[in-house]
Amino acid sequence: MAKYFTRRQLFRLRNEIPVDDLLRRLDWPCKVREGRFCFVCPCCQESLTAVNDRTNLGRCFRCERNFNPIDLVMMIRELDFVDAVYFLMGTWPATVVGDGDSGPPEAAQNA
Ligand SMILES: [Zn+2]
Repeated sequence: MAKYFTRRQLFRLRNEIPVDDLLRRLDWPCKVREGRFCFVCPCCQESLTAVNDRTNLGRCFRCERNFNPIDLVMMIRELDFVDAVYFLMGTWPATVVGDGDSGPPEAAQNA
């Protein structure tokens, strides 16, 4: 298999796979506390974290790092970038369907 992906594929993986669903699928410790989703930071193991629904990024306030779905799979499953992308594409095939057109990236996303 080719070891590269289109920008659009990567964009979709980062944006269309909800971080909370991903962490639950990975059996990674996370919970809803006072109505807010938080998770154990794969870097520092603390849970001073939140997910930004707008950007679909997990944030650790202690590490001051943001994690997109690809980052999280790489860290939690200890995969390299390519394997993490394959994992996400295999687990969320809907994010791959319809790929290949060269239209503008999800302009409607925030509409
Ligand atoms: Zn952290």
